[in-house]
Amino acid sequence: MPSLSLPPTITISTRSLLLFPAAATAAAVLLLLRRRRSSGYGVAARLCEPCEPAEGEAVTAGGKRPLPEALTPSSSPGVRLTPRRALLGGGSPREIGLSKDVDATTKRENTIDWHDYFMSVAMLSAFRSKDPNKQVGACIVDPKRQRIVGIGYNGFPWGCSDDDLPWARTGTSKLETKHLYVCHAEMNAIFNKNCSSLEGCRIYTTLFPCNECTKMIVQSRLLDVVYLSDEKHDELSTVASRRMLKLAGIPFWEHKPASPRIVIDFESELAR
Ligand SMILES: [Zn+2]
Repeated sequence: MPSLSLPPTITISTRSLLLFPAAATAAAVLLLLRRRRSSGYGVAARLCEPCEPAEGEAVTAGGKRPLPEALTPSSSPGVRLTPRRALLGGGSPREIGLSKDVDATTKRENTIDWHDYFMSVAMLSAFRSKDPNKQVGACIVDPKRQRIVGIGYNGFPWGCSDDDLPWARTGTSKLETKHLYVCHAEMNAIFNKNCSSLEGCRIYTTLFPCNECTKMIVQSRLLDVVYLSDEKHDELSTVASRRMLKLAGIPFWEHKPASPRIVIDFESELAR
């Protein structure tokens, strides 16, 4: 296996992208690199069993699996949930990083929670996008097992060269813009699934899904949608997405990362 050529440091600022705790992406990097080294495929995720509701498991009137109590919306879909503190047992927002304490005799406490972890994987996937204007990532998770079952970022369809299709947002002809060709992150994450069904799975996406991706989310019977940015909240596509999600009984909620900024420092990790 040839060695990987990696940038020594990746800095993600949440001021522009609403990012996450340090260990989230660091852990994601390590996870992805480990898988890449072992499988030769950078974003291969662990195989899982089909996400079917367990026998006797409660479902809502619409046949949807209800959210765990810690993730239940406080009022209506779209309202920020408060799972982090509940999951971690309290504490103020803080930086989370890797550590090395050779004298420690007890377990490490300042680990990353699952929501930051999966959203960080989604964001890290966005780093792969060739889109010069907008990079979006998505990560689909089986929440019962906390396993990643699909990852994607926005790009052109398989076999279509990044150099042969237009990346422009506007042009004299719509045929010469990216919009008719690009596959969004959510779509790719769904197509990249490594289990037979995504029913009951959760999608983390760095941008509120468009109407086309929302159709696929609904048809895939996903449990809920966790988004980071809602910058296109007032666009018709997003309005249509919310309309469909509400009608389908699929909750969506904003992820609030605990830390405003993360740094992945390969050099420091290698030097520890
Ligand atoms: Zn989309």
